[in-house]
Amino acid sequence: MPDQLECFLDESVIQNRVREMALQIREDYGNAHLVLIGVLKGSLFFLADLSRHLGLEVSMDFIQVSSYGMEKSSSGVVQIRKDLDQNIEGKHVLIVEDIVDTGLTLDHLKSLLATRSPKSLKVVSLLSKPEARKFETLVDYLGFEIPNKFVVGYGLDYAERYRNLPYIAILHESA
Ligand code: 5GP
Repeated sequence: MPDQLECFLDESVIQNRVREMALQIREDYGNAHLVLIGVLKGSLFFLADLSRHLGLEVSMDFIQVSSYGMEKSSSGVVQIRKDLDQNIEGKHVLIVEDIVDTGLTLDHLKSLLATRSPKSLKVVSLLSKPEARKFETLVDYLGFEIPNKFVVGYGLDYAERYRNLPYIAILHESA
């Protein structure tokens, strides 16, 4: 039996919220040059859409960490698989995350990037699962709070599948 996908946030709901978030970020940063740091690979489409709505002068860099591997729950260990290409010292940095679950990844990333002396360091995340939180970590701009279910689509995968869905769905695995 194929996996069951239950649509949870459809394309227009996501796009409207991303546009609203971009407006808020634009208001807060004024004319400052912003470095967007996409957390690979899940933030791919969110970063692309958000940045196009920002209308600010931005640069982009990417970092890849792994705590999940091929599983649906975190291994509890965060490893850097790909580091940034640019120096963020003295820059306004905005981490762009797909989803905050336990908070481990974000907590780790923020501590790591803070040691590199950015001028400011904030976080935007499309999704958050507050019920799953184990590490209290502040998200400055949040798209949606969602229940503690495993979701895919709009960049989010399960074993590298489903990233290219334009909507976000709850994954019910086949037996
Ligand atoms: P945390 O460290 O907060 O527990 O997990 C953050 C990372 O776990 C996210 O960046 C994402 O890669 C992955 N993750 C957490 N929840 C989900 C989910 O429901 N679906 C998918 N596809 N990935 C998730």
